[in-house]
Amino acid sequence: MVSHKKSTKGGASRKSKTPKITYATLTITPKDDETYEHAVKEIRARLGSHYSMYINGEKWNSTGEEYTHASPLNTDLVVSYFPKGSRDDVKAAIDAARDAFHDWSSKRYNDRVRILRRAAEILLQRRFDLAALMAFEVGKNRAESLAEVNESVELIRYYCEQMETNNGFVKPLESPGQRQETVSILRPYGVWAVVGPWNFPLALSTGMSAGALVTGNTVVYKPSSESPVVGYELSRAFLDAGIPGGVFNFVTGPGDTVGVELQENKHVDGFVFTGSKDVGMRLYRQFSTDYPKPIITEMGGKNPAIVSETADLDQAAEGVMRAAFGFGGQKCSACSRVYVHKSVKERFVSLLKEYTQKFVTIGDPTRKETFLGPLVNQAAVDTYVKASDEARKDGGRMAFGGHLLTAGEYANGHFVEPAIVDGLPSSHRLFRDELFVPFLVVAEIQSFEQGIELANKSEYGLCAGIYTKNRTEMETFFEQIQAGVTYANRRAGATTGAWPGVNSFGGWKGSGSSGKSGLGPYYVQQFMREQSRWIVK
Ligand code: NAD
Repeated sequence: MVSHKKSTKGGASRKSKTPKITYATLTITPKDDETYEHAVKEIRARLGSHYSMYINGEKWNSTGEEYTHASPLNTDLVVSYFPKGSRDDVKAAIDAARDAFHDWSSKRYNDRVRILRRAAEILLQRRFDLAALMAFEVGKNRAESLAEVNESVELIRYYCEQMETNNGFVKPLESPGQRQETVSILRPYGVWAVVGPWNFPLALSTGMSAGALVTGNTVVYKPSSESPVVGYELSRAFLDAGIPGGVFNFVTGPGDTVGVELQENKHVDGFVFTGSKDVGMRLYRQFSTDYPKPIITEMGGKNPAIVSETADLDQAAEGVMRAAFGFGGQKCSACSRVYVHKSVKERFVSLLKEYTQKFVTIGDPTRKETFLGPLVNQAAVDTYVKASDEARKDGGRMAFGGHLLTAGEYANGHFVEPAIVDGLPSSHRLFRDELFVPFLVVAEIQSFEQGIELANKSEYGLCAGIYTKNRTEMETFFEQIQAGVTYANRRAGATTGAWPGVNSFGGWKGSGSSGKSGLGPYYVQQFMREQSRWIVK
């Protein structure tokens, strides 16, 4: 097995000024609570505002219509009105990004790093507003949204450090002879499209954009239509930090106009996408036409956990519960299937139910005690209902939950119970399809080997976890599991917990195209191409 000793260089030794509210700790101080609650009031007062795009550093008045976005916690609350951008709007943004490329890419990398670090500071200063906004816009709870802002800050800082640690990716090579010099330089491509999902509306958009920007590219960014205000606030943070007009452009609107223009426009030199496998694969297949262009697609997951007969069942039950129901299973890293050894299954399921009952308080995500807010939209609720009906019809036992919540405070929002289903055959489609709702299926396994085999029987390969006290099983798991992000015996989350410079995050197979994870040491290089130089003096 490879050595897992910590390096003394790079990410692990970084000193961070960010308050340590990570996904793993999820603790906040009384002062944070107070500031957050104040921010909730402020953001509530701003709901229903009309917003614009940003092109070339200016607010951009599209001639098109607007679209309305309602809050998942109460659909009577309109969060925002945004322009439904047209293909012409996107063309204008791409032109602005092209014009800005020369100056931005010619800057010393330290100058870009300085500006981006300022953006990180701005996000940090605005973290309570951003977190409150995420509650109204996508239903994310207090601790998880504060953690997400911190992750965004750390992402920028980590990618800046990568530039510094690697000396801007300028590497002298072996001299070919007297008075001759050779060097390898990584250089930016040009204009990158950045397209993000709604579930980590700030962190993923920040990470992808920072990767493109710090390496000298310019950006046209499109957020998900479920989270445009967070996208707008990210754009404001970049512009307020001093990113020149044109270097970062913000366009809004549907995937099939705005997204498609980004995909088809010949002046877009690279594409970085995070979202579903369907959209990601379409982009991957269609982005390059005349010659190969770089495209990074991070996609979905159907993340398994294996519970072996030697597992600490208490640890396993809590870890699976947290990974399955944190943010309502609406994480690409959510655990959605568990393979449990037959000798411990009954006890495990009983503990899993206990933990779910104890921890998963459901309600308004801005309230301190809420673990689970609403699902993002009606389509997610429909997916949940369909899966629950199907599980019952096909002989599954609803070990926990499986119902919509529609009375009292839940009446106007997209609230559901967490669901745990037992007794379906492991070949059932609910073990295969990504649902992206709080819905967990449990299967019994006869052996550890069968657990690995079933875990790998998936088109996805994003995250996977194991609970075992057997060292050989653990090593075999790491060797054989087909997943980009792996965990052993983690109580804080069976399959969740990525953090910049600590636990990088990227998928294999149908979960990601590049094999180089975000949040990790090989990420920023993907936004550059190598130029090899030979100079005779
Ligand atoms: P989605 O694929 O529906 O949308 C993602 C983005 O693509 C949105 O901004 C959307 O407007 C845009 N889009 C849609 N059609 C497009 C087109 N034809 N051209 C260009 N852009 C288009 O995904 P979502 O519902 O926003 O997010 C949930 C999905 O994202 C899940 O599958 C989840 O697993 C995945 N995800 C993956 C990761 C990861 O790091 N691997 C992280 C978060 C989410």
